[in-house]
Parts: sequence; structure tokens; C-alpha cells
Amino acid sequence: MELNQYAFGIDIGGTNTKIGLFDQDGKLLGFKKMPTLKEVSPAEFVERLSQESEMLLQSIGTIVLGDSRIVGVGVGAPMANYFTGRVEFAPNLGWRDVPLKKLFEDFFKCPAVIENDANLAAIGEKKWGSGKNLNDMVLVTLGTGVGTGLILEGKLYRGHDALGAEGGHILIPHSKNRPCSCGGINHLESYLSSKGIQQTIKEMTNQDWSVEELGEHFHQGETIAINVINQIAQELASGLATMGVLFGPQAFILGGGVSKLGDSFNKILKNKLEEVIHFSLRGKIAIITATLSSDKGAVYGGAAHIFDEVNK
Ligand SMILES: [Zn+2]
Repeated sequence: MELNQYAFGIDIGGTNTKIGLFDQDGKLLGFKKMPTLKEVSPAEFVERLSQESEMLLQSIGTIVLGDSRIVGVGVGAPMANYFTGRVEFAPNLGWRDVPLKKLFEDFFKCPAVIENDANLAAIGEKKWGSGKNLNDMVLVTLGTGVGTGLILEGKLYRGHDALGAEGGHILIPHSKNRPCSCGGINHLESYLSSKGIQQTIKEMTNQDWSVEELGEHFHQGETIAINVINQIAQELASGLATMGVLFGPQAFILGGGVSKLGDSFNKILKNKLEEVIHFSLRGKIAIITATLSSDKGAVYGGAAHIFDEVNK
């Protein structure tokens, strides 16, 4: 690879969009966070992103979009289909049948790939983060929703038509019947999304703590916070046990807000997992915190993906 290549990683979320400019070693050279504009057309929004990206380029020197040193842009968006390059329907954004890959290629004047954000985070961890030496791993992002990215035999697994790898919607056994954002009942996301965790906190403590506040009370050793942590660890362990027996990963990598709970949470989770996982896998799957960033995982992953794509 020639020296000084650059790529953009862009994560389009329901509320905010993040843009990162990277070099080929995964060094973040520039970053910008802006609201996701839903009142304009997708084309106008991508044009705005290209203008913001051009400004990031100017901060590193005299380089403009279209320069051959820019290898491409990797974009994360809800319901993004890598194979078709389109977003068929994304209710959060109000998008229907958007040719997202083509819009990025037109406005950024370089190759583009699109994926869902958890897939990107998995690719990023594999190339530059905790998953560097792993061939089989499941990345679990615990944020507004629960996403999973599967690296199997060294490669991202998407399923037919990019419809697989949606571990957030695994059914978990539970005494409650809590709805999921998708309309299902008792999915992993019903309990492990930020909203799900906050609901559990409310039910168990009658407090309105955020996930961060739960973490603070937990680290101070408060019994009620420890009880909540045990409960959510048990719910997460149920989901991981199912994924474990299906994919036999070397590790689960946890990203997103909950990953900030750190090693003490991972230890509790590991113990719960050992209790429920199939005996053949006991003691064999590590639980690791994502290292790239709890809130920029898909941005790193977008750049990692396009570097891999153009150099394969
Ligand atoms: Zn669901």
C-alpha cells in the first residue's frame, strides 16, 4: 500500500451523524458530529456530509475530495444493505429505497461501501481493535438498540441479502413480557437497549438513573445497583449463550455505552454465561471490551471496511 492514504468512516444514526477522517493505520485525523438532517432529502444530506468532510480534509492539508489519496468512504446506516447499496426502508430516518452507496460515490468522488453500524464496528475491531487476533468473534453493541456483528472464519457474515446477524432480536426466556422496538416480545433488545436497562432500573430501584449513573452506583458498591447489574448481566448472558452455541466464537466483544461498565461488569457477565452456556463451551469464550471507542466504533469500522475493500 502506498503511503498516506486516507478514508472516511461515517455513522448515520437516528439522531446524530459522525464523520471521521483516518489514515491507513487507523489513526483518527479529524472528527465531526452533527445532527442527522431528516427535513432534507437523502441526496441533500449526503451533499452536506461531503461539504463537512471537505472541511475535515482542509484541516490536514491541501487535499480535496476526488484526490487519489482518498481511498473511499465506509458508511453505517440503519437497514443499509451492502449487497444492493441501498437502504430499502429506515423508519428512524424516514428513508425509503435510497441508493445510499451511489449518493456517497457521487458526492465524495470515491468508492463507497454501506453496512449497518454493528457490522462496521465488528470490522473495525477486527482490523484495529480488540479483535485483531481473532478469527471468530461476535461484537455486541449495547446502545440505543442492541446490534451484533459476526466475524466468522475471519470474514464478516451478513446472511442472505444482508438480513442476518441481528442478535438484538434473539428471543430470551423471561418471566416478564416486555416488548422490543421491533414489535416482538422478550427480545435481547427489550432488556439490553438503553431504554430497556432504564426500565429495569426503574422497576428494581424506583430510580430514574441513566446507564452511566447505574455504573457510578455500581462502582460505589451499592447493593441495589449490584442487583440491577446482576439482572442485566443474566439477561445478556441468555442471549450470548444462544449466539455462543450457534457460532462458537473465541470471544464476545462488547461495545457501546454499557461497555463503559468495564471489567467488573464483564466478570459478572462471564460468571452468568458459564452458568447457562452449553457445557462444551464452558471456559472457552472470552468477554472483552471493545477498544476502539465506545461511541465511534462504527466510524472506525467504516474506514477499516473501505481500506479492506479497496485493497482486497
Ligand atoms: Zn426485536
